[in-house]
Formats: sequence, structure tokens, C-alpha cells
Amino acid sequence: MAAVEGLMQDYELSLQHVLWRIERLHQKKEVVTKLEQGVHRMTNAEMVPRINRLAGALKRLGVKPGDRVATLAFNNHRHLELYYAVPCMGAVLHTLNLRLFPQHLEFIINDAEDKTLFVDQALLPLLKPLMGKIPSIQRFVLMTDASAPSHSQDGIGDMLDYESLLQAESDSYPWPKLSERMAAAMCYTSGTTGNPKGVVYSHRSQFIHTMGVLQADNLGLTEKDTVLPIVPMFHANSWGLPYACGMAGCKVLFPDRFMGDAKSVVELAEQEGATILAGVPTIWINTVALLKETGQRLPKVHTVICGGSAIPRSLMEAMDALGLRMLHAWGMTETSPLGSVSRPRAGTAKENELDVRLTQGVIVPGVEIRITDPASGEELPWDGVAFGEIQVRGPWIARGYHNGYDPGKLTEDEWFRTGDVAKISPDGYIQIVDRTKDVIKSGGEWISSVELENAVMAHPKILEAAVIGLPHVKWDERPVVYAVARPEFKGQVTEQEVIDFLRDKVAKWWLPDEVRFIDEVPKTSVGKFDKKVLRASAVPIKEGATQAARK
Ligand code: ADP
Repeated sequence: MAAVEGLMQDYELSLQHVLWRIERLHQKKEVVTKLEQGVHRMTNAEMVPRINRLAGALKRLGVKPGDRVATLAFNNHRHLELYYAVPCMGAVLHTLNLRLFPQHLEFIINDAEDKTLFVDQALLPLLKPLMGKIPSIQRFVLMTDASAPSHSQDGIGDMLDYESLLQAESDSYPWPKLSERMAAAMCYTSGTTGNPKGVVYSHRSQFIHTMGVLQADNLGLTEKDTVLPIVPMFHANSWGLPYACGMAGCKVLFPDRFMGDAKSVVELAEQEGATILAGVPTIWINTVALLKETGQRLPKVHTVICGGSAIPRSLMEAMDALGLRMLHAWGMTETSPLGSVSRPRAGTAKENELDVRLTQGVIVPGVEIRITDPASGEELPWDGVAFGEIQVRGPWIARGYHNGYDPGKLTEDEWFRTGDVAKISPDGYIQIVDRTKDVIKSGGEWISSVELENAVMAHPKILEAAVIGLPHVKWDERPVVYAVARPEFKGQVTEQEVIDFLRDKVAKWWLPDEVRFIDEVPKTSVGKFDKKVLRASAVPIKEGATQAARK
């Protein structure tokens, strides 16, 4: 029998639709950015003509469909304007991670072949070491309040001025017809496990991801919400929140350069009535300390979205006690990033809720997941015991990287290899155990570096600990702990004490061969343990250490 086509419209899914909703339905909603003194406040009705003017300016500058327009900027209102103007006029928004080393930024700008670069005034010092090394850049635009036709900057030369460019344009812009498969934005992985690689989002993927983010069982943003994304706009599109807020009609709060300053963030949330906050675990560790010290509370906040790394139990408990309910989510740059969200499923007993919320949750509708055995490639059961690599597929999952790097990330049957190792319970809760590059292969079995780290960090004298596998003649690899003592216990905690502490917490063969004390665990640009650095400088395991640890 011949297939029959459906009779629905081939409506191109694009970010222009989100912009259309902002303009038609959410005019009164505000975008508020924290400044040195007070805030910058703008309604959507004021922002839309600015977005149109910005698109006009980009066109006048010669920006063509497909051209990469880079941003080096904090979370602020101008960055949001670029989030719409660039993709909606057909160009590609490339958000640069301002915490990278200059050589990484140089690599990324050259790899993406960015032509135009928008930079916040406060971030100019990051740009200076790159001058002469980023030949694809044809123009710099300075994002500042002080409007002047052009700015001359020491070490950079002439720069265009954002506000003057906008002043020269008209309030309306003839948005072109876009194809949903066109690239809308790109973002590089933060390079925790290797060199950064460019992930290229399409209009279609961004549109569907936005719809996914908004679902009630996912992040569940509504028009009644006021959202404060502390997760940077250069980190996986701020988890898709800028577009989700636009689609739903949320009020948006931006911390600008006060991102890492808990006091300013709490003040902004309090004064502007935030209902949803979003950021990585380290942000909340500082927030808990501050709220406990000052006695301040944020009673309007109903959800604190948290992902990027696992939420420690102690943190979730402390936040819950302060009335700040955390919502744990998992994802990565390559998954746009939303992959799973941990809300207790229907029928979960009250006493099990915390355990469930600490898992990485259930895969979101639209994305399929499987875990596979690394050796055989066979799919593993969802029994809460077997663990293997997470592979995913769906409309907002990457199928490759810019410039064709790492083609092996896609399996033959076109699932994306995440590099995360997990087990899945019969109810579908995902529990991340490790990353494939970090998991320790000892005598043909796997040891989870993450579980071992958590067990070590539960020691009252230890502040942080990272575990890596080092080569071993007999066992292939064995675990070595790099531990940082709490300041008051510096020099007063021994290797034996840590190993003895672990004895009733992990299997005997998981006991580390050595515990090495260091002053600080090296971190990546987004605050994760940088095990690459530890591995590069690690001395070999002492002879006989394995037997000593197991005594
Ligand atoms: P990078 O891969 O360079 O670290 P990403 O920001 O894309 O940059 O990080 C994605 C990775 O972060 C995931 O693959 C996973 O290892 C980790 N991750 C993200 N969310 C969580 C979470 N909720 N729990 C544990 N790990 C997480």
C-alpha cells in the first residue's frame, strides 16, 4: 500500500517564532540586569525594536547568513538581544566562554572562523592577548552604555559601538524566511575531557528543545515566573533558559558580572521577586553559607534548577532546609543541554523523595536513552545495578561537531555516545556513576571515581577529593586519591586514616592505592575537577602500595 502523506503545514521551526511571541504577547514583561549601582530595566516592548535595530546593523556591516557572530559577554540585556537578532537574521550566534585560557579562546575563534565579535567592556582585558592571533575577525563591537561612534582601545585599535550602531537603524526589520535546518547557534564543549569541540544547534533543535524545557515535568517555566539564570549564557545556551523565558513570557533577571557573587545574586532575586533560580552546585554552596549567616530567605523561589555536576546530598538537604527546593537535571553541551530531570515520579513514597531527587532523574520526552557495555557494545538492562555508557538520540542531540572532529562519537546506528557512565533503575531513574574517561579499569572491572570521591569527601577532615586511575602492572589501573584537607585539619590527616575510613564504605578492591594531599583540586573553566591536569603531573604509584592499602 502506498504511504499517505499527512496534510499538515511544513511550518519551519525557528527562533523567529519565539521573537514573535515576545513581541505580540509578552510586551510588558521586563528584562532586568544588575549594575554596579541599581539595575538596568527594560520591557520587552522596548527590547524588540532594539533587536530589530541590531539585526539592521548586522546586515549593514555585511553579516551574511551562516556567518558566525561571536559574543564574549556576561548574562545581560545586550547579550539577550544578540541571542535573538543574530539567529533570526540567519547568522550563527557563537557564545565564547569567558573563563577559558587565551590559547583555548584563540583556538575556538579560529576553529569557528568568527567574523564579528561583540565584547562587554569589562571583558576587554581577555581580548588583548588574542590580538594578531584571530585573523578571521573583521570587526569588534563594544557592548557599553557610553555611546560613541567608535572606541579606540589600547592594544585592540578601533572598535564599533553597540549603542551607536543601533541608533543608526530603524525600529523594524524584514526578517528573512529561514529553513529550520539552518544553524542558529554554536557553543564549544568546555573541554573537561579533551580539546573543545564546536556543537552547532539548528533552529529546529532550539525550537523543539525550548518546548521540551517548558514541559511541566521538565523545567516547567510559566508566564507567572521570574527567572534568574546564573548559569552563564556561554555555557550550553544558559541551559536554554533565555529562549524558554521568551516563549513562556517570564520576567528575566540577569546578574551580569555579579554571577559569582552570592550576595548580589540574592539581593537581585529578593528585590525583583525571582521564583526560579538556575546554576551549578558550587553557586549554591556559597548561597547556603550566605543565607545562614545573614538570616535572609527567598520565600518566593519555588525551584532551584541545578545541573552540570551531581548535587551532593548535604547541599540538597541544606537548601531544602532554607526553603530552596532543588531540581536536579543532567545534560551536556551536545544535548542542547536538557537530557534528564529528577522529579519524584507519581506514587513515590515521601521518605524516598530525597533519594530520587539526588539521581539524575528520568530522560525527558523527545530523547531516547540506552546504556551499553563498553566492551561488547550490548545494551544493558535497567536494573539499577548494571552500568554502562549512556547513549542518546533525539531531535536536540548532536550528530557531529563543527569541522568534523571526533566522528566516532556517533555509533553506527546513530546514537550519540555521551561519555557518561550510568546505571538506570527499573523506574527509569538515571544514576551517573562516572565518565568513561575517568572510570578506573582495575583487573577487568570498573571502579567509579565519582563514588570513591564522594566516599572520601564524607570524611570530616576532608574538604575536596578527586580520584584518578593510574597505570598498574598487574591490575591495569588502580585508584589514587588527591585530597584537600579542611583548613583546620591541614597536616593533621593521614593517608592511613582516609583508607581506614573507607573500609566499611566501599568494596575492598576499590580501596585506593594511595592518598596524596594537595592544596587545591585543579578546576576547569566551568568549575569541574580537572582530572586531565592531575593525570599530566601524576607520579607513578609507589611499589607495594596496592597490598598496603588492602591490608
Ligand atoms: P564538558 O563536557 O566539557 O564538561 P558540559 O558542560 O557539556 O562540558 O558538561 C557535560 C557533562 O557534565 C556531562 O557529560 C556530565 O558528565 C556532567 N554533568 C552534567 N550534569 C550532571 C549531573 N546532574 N550530574 C552529574 N554529572 C553531570
